[in-house]
Amino acid sequence: MKQVESVLVVGGGIAGCATAIALAQQGIGVTLVEKQEAWRFQSSGIFIYHNGLAALERLGVLDGILDAGYSIADGRNVYLDQAGAGIVDTFYPSRHACIPPIVGIRRAAMHQVLAARIRALDVDVRLGTTVHHIDEGDSAAVTVALSDGTQARYGLVVGADGIRSDLRGLVAGALAPRYTGLGVWRSVHARPAELDAKIMMMGKGKRLGIMPISDDSLYLFGTVAEPAGSWYPRENWPRMMQERFAEFGGPARQFLEALGDDSEVLYTAVEEVAAPLPWHKGRVLIIGDAAHASTPFMGQGGAMALEDAVLLADMLATPGELDHTLQAFGQRRYPLCKFVQDASRKVGEAGASEDDAMLSARNRGMRESAQAQVNAFYQQMDALRGGQP
Ligand SMILES: Cc1cc2nc3c(=O)[nH]c(=O)nc-3n(C[C@H](O)[C@H](O)[C@H](O)COP(=O)(O)OP(=O)(O)OC[C@H]3O[C@@H](n4cnc5c(N)ncnc54)[C@H](O)[C@@H]3O)c2cc1C
Repeated sequence: MKQVESVLVVGGGIAGCATAIALAQQGIGVTLVEKQEAWRFQSSGIFIYHNGLAALERLGVLDGILDAGYSIADGRNVYLDQAGAGIVDTFYPSRHACIPPIVGIRRAAMHQVLAARIRALDVDVRLGTTVHHIDEGDSAAVTVALSDGTQARYGLVVGADGIRSDLRGLVAGALAPRYTGLGVWRSVHARPAELDAKIMMMGKGKRLGIMPISDDSLYLFGTVAEPAGSWYPRENWPRMMQERFAEFGGPARQFLEALGDDSEVLYTAVEEVAAPLPWHKGRVLIIGDAAHASTPFMGQGGAMALEDAVLLADMLATPGELDHTLQAFGQRRYPLCKFVQDASRKVGEAGASEDDAMLSARNRGMRESAQAQVNAFYQQMDALRGGQP
């Protein structure tokens, strides 16, 4: 007998779409509500490392992701200084022969692939819909009133409603995202054929990355300290990105110079959320950014959301008692998500607090130990999954 027959997934981002697919594949009835009227995703790209790609394979969408995105088959990451001089190359690992170490893809393209799989599995998707009220009155199910005027009983409600999650309040009380003091600037450009690896340019207190996201496009992502509470009019973003990274040369220069009023530029203030366990209360569970939004410096937030979804569906598909399963789910995921959050925060903070005197020692240290650090990070992730890649 299944632990739950029907699940309401709240939020149609990476975590929600992946959860809907993973549960539907297990034969569990899913309703997915997304408050936006249409699938609409912020511009620019995302990169997914091998562990996230392995989860996408479990969801039956890896081929679609590889077709729409750009795979770096050898996992090469080229570190340059801000003038474009080489520091060191590192290589991201993979754990499976048929899964590349890293893929870059437009966020919208990734969601198109996920949405097509959701449609193929006949999931009940309701766009422009949110939760009005959750009644936990009886222990066998929760009764949920939706904004479309319907009401139904579900065995489980999964809050995949992102960093500003409403459902987190039901589980963890008031827990606002924490601003990290850093902002990320992203822009999308045509890809010259010779730019076929991930590039990280190491400035002074700034980083500027370049990542292919399809055969013909790439994106720039730059991190820099930004004052708390700063708000910038959208029309100024291209010029501001140009100014923030004006000292960068090398392969980034052509793209920075090309920024203008019509450019696709996105500014994001970096926040994080670390909800303590338990991540569930009764039959309401939070996953993805709602539970553990990370700074983006390890590029693992989306992959963690994908892993959450696959593991949750696996655990719900085995016989057991729901409360125990939800408890065990949180206990399995928390140490890994915390490790990623801590590592990512450390990278972001170290990158933001540099002066001239530190740069040559930093570059020397990178030549000596950058690859060892990459290896150690992924080995520790494997260990925290109990040896499962
Ligand atoms: C600048 C930046 C760069 C990043 N780069 C990477 C990267 O390269 N690789 C990577 O793996 N990760 C990256 N991440 C992290 C990644 O984007 C997130 O971890 C991931 O998107 C989380 O997915 P989610 O589904 O949990 O949340 P979200 O993507 O925020 O989705 C939540 C969804 O829920 C909907 N929603 C919210 N409230 C409600 C409600 N009440 N009712 C119904 N629907 C609701 C929202 O509209 C949204 O569609 C980055 C993050 C940032 C900030």
